[in-house]
Amino acid sequence: MDYFPIFMNVRGQTCLVVGGGAVARRKTEALLRSGASIRLVAPEISVDLQTLVVQKQGELLSRNFQPTDLDGVVLVIAATDDERVNQQVSALAAQARLPVNVVDQPDLSTFITPAVVDRSPVVVAVSSGGKAPVLTRLLKARIESFVPSAWGRLAQLVGGYRNRVKQKLPTLQQRNRFWSDVLQGPVAELALAGQVDQSEALLQKRIEDPSAFSTGAVYLVGAGPGDPDLLTFRALRLLQQADLVVYDRLVSPQIIELIRKDAEKIYVGKQRSEHSVPQPQINQLLLEQAQAGKIVVRLKGGDPFIFGRGGEEIATLAAEKIPFQVVPGITAASGCAAYAGIPLTHRDHTQMVVFVTGHLKDNSVNLDWQPLAHLDATLVIYMGLIGLPVICRELIAHGKDPQTPIALIESGTLASQRVFTGTLATLSAELDQYHVRAPTLIIIGQVVGLKDQLEWFQSRAEQQSGGSAES
Ligand code: SAH
Repeated sequence: MDYFPIFMNVRGQTCLVVGGGAVARRKTEALLRSGASIRLVAPEISVDLQTLVVQKQGELLSRNFQPTDLDGVVLVIAATDDERVNQQVSALAAQARLPVNVVDQPDLSTFITPAVVDRSPVVVAVSSGGKAPVLTRLLKARIESFVPSAWGRLAQLVGGYRNRVKQKLPTLQQRNRFWSDVLQGPVAELALAGQVDQSEALLQKRIEDPSAFSTGAVYLVGAGPGDPDLLTFRALRLLQQADLVVYDRLVSPQIIELIRKDAEKIYVGKQRSEHSVPQPQINQLLLEQAQAGKIVVRLKGGDPFIFGRGGEEIATLAAEKIPFQVVPGITAASGCAAYAGIPLTHRDHTQMVVFVTGHLKDNSVNLDWQPLAHLDATLVIYMGLIGLPVICRELIAHGKDPQTPIALIESGTLASQRVFTGTLATLSAELDQYHVRAPTLIIIGQVVGLKDQLEWFQSRAEQQSGGSAES
């Protein structure tokens, strides 16, 4: 390491900033966020910087830098575009043994300022030692995206309990285990989800009896339509914490890959014809495993609350007072529409979108056809592959124009995605030659016509056939 990383307490201490432009302003803002008092010196100072310093009761000196400006300060930043001034500030500060930073000039500086991810009281500082600031910024952006913004809230909460835990658990090893457990379990997840009171109550319970069996919880997590990139940050985090993941057929193998390696996985997938695990049994499984203290992730394709029976699964947990959370996912309608280039609403075509299930029961689709055929809406039909001929026939029979555009999207958002388009009158018969397989989503309405103009996702299926042969 070229630099020794430290966090310096400047609260209430005077820090000198030399410079009056945009860079000086950025440095001043950072110092103010840490509670410093500012002395700002420059012959010309931008109006917004002046306002900032005055608002915070700082000293504003509109003149050239002079050596006495260093009196009584604990830290110096030079942010001028005058090389001579920068050198002078650097030399005098060094003489006075004051830490000094000359912006973008490591050779004139005794410290450098890192890129910061602020989740106060947690702060992540990133530096390349001045060698690759852009790389540092990119890394900072990555950290910003995977450290939830509520981490500050969590740190604040547990910070208040450090001493009590210290009294309860005498050795460092015990305490480390305790906190590591707490910070990766329901206490943390409750705090991150904004349920601070419940989180604190659970934390207190754990502190009262640290050796007690840890509390289980169930997270009903939407895995999105298939492309793992479409998972939410929260979904990914929970997959990496789970003791047990209960998943079904629609969850893509790439997403299963992201589950913590030593987690147990149970497949309860329902094939269309054979229900491998009946719903009441799944409900019972989730309940028992959570009662046994496990962190259970119930992973479902798309969004758990859209044709996902998510409500039924958590009703049992709610009745038994098991902590649970629901993590939304991108539903197939949004995922498939986006990846097929079909906007579900469009000001020129339709202002309404309806999601229905086209599931066959006793060889018919049990839908209220009359309003569906007459609504000026985009119709999105889940589970409609087998029922497709019935769906098209009934819509036409109830008055929908046989020329209405329709799209069927197979394995939407995945590399194997295929999109077939046609009209209500023709699509069903045209599909026979393509051996289409579930999962598929049907979109009916004028918006389907926008696909040729808006499609952007080139799936592997299309690349192999040299274009979208099916459309
Ligand atoms: N909860 C899920 C839907 C479950 S019902 C969600 O919000 O998406 C199962 C149906 O979802 C399938 O029959 C199919 O119609 C649709 N579906 C799910 N993933 C799909 C995908 N990748 N491509 C096409 N359709 C999909």
